[in-house]
Amino acid sequence: MPATEGPRALVAGNWKMNGTTASLGELRLLATMLQGVQLNCGVMVCPPAPLLMAVAKLIRSGTIQLGGQDCHPEPYGPYTGDISAEMLKDAGASAVIVGHSERRIGHGESSSLVRAKALAAHRAGLTAIICLGETQKERQGGDTLQVLSAQLEESVPEKSESRNTIIAYEPVWAIGTGVTPTAEEISAAHSHIRAELTQLLGGVAALTAILYGGSVKPANAGQLMAIDNVNGALVGGASLKAADFLGIIKAYS
Ligand code: PEP
Repeated sequence: MPATEGPRALVAGNWKMNGTTASLGELRLLATMLQGVQLNCGVMVCPPAPLLMAVAKLIRSGTIQLGGQDCHPEPYGPYTGDISAEMLKDAGASAVIVGHSERRIGHGESSSLVRAKALAAHRAGLTAIICLGETQKERQGGDTLQVLSAQLEESVPEKSESRNTIIAYEPVWAIGTGVTPTAEEISAAHSHIRAELTQLLGGVAALTAILYGGSVKPANAGQLMAIDNVNGALVGGASLKAADFLGIIKAYS
């Protein structure tokens, strides 16, 4: 069961580059299935940008929140193909994922760029979901906690508040692989993140949600969500099917 005091838990679905208007049926189904469910966590979906407006319309009267998957640091300008935090806000989003490993590694994004994106989210009135996590090589080299410290120090803006900042610990080697760290490894990473955040942000840290992400499924969600300092999940593949995503949400219900 989640703690009664502390960060508000969140289960967020990152659809990545999946989904067209034809897939909105799954979201409609999820909205229907959630009716009457006593929620102990927030629920969010982060669809690809072309679906933001359609999703915003679909979830308007329900409990599901909307998030973007990335944003540019600037509010507007000559940045072909990019989307600003202000545009996400205008489309109905309340949050944006920044620093996902598929952007850090796939697009060469540095922690200082991630920090600039988090600041842009704050400027626009969005919650920044700041992702971090070690690669398999870094874990095998015994560098996990050091990597997390460096990513936190360089990616989290110093004036972050618990109402506008969420951290997502996502070991790169656990994303989309079906492999998860042990409960002890997750607990060690999350308590390290909490301690590091306390150094960086003081009292704000105790109320800042720290999500776990990486191969969360209905079958392992209960166990993962019960780990100390795990305040919810960032879910990729299993967020695409209403029944699977509901199974994870229910780990908090
Ligand atoms: C993710 O990409 O944020 C993620 C956690 O993916 P998956 O759940 O598919 O491992």
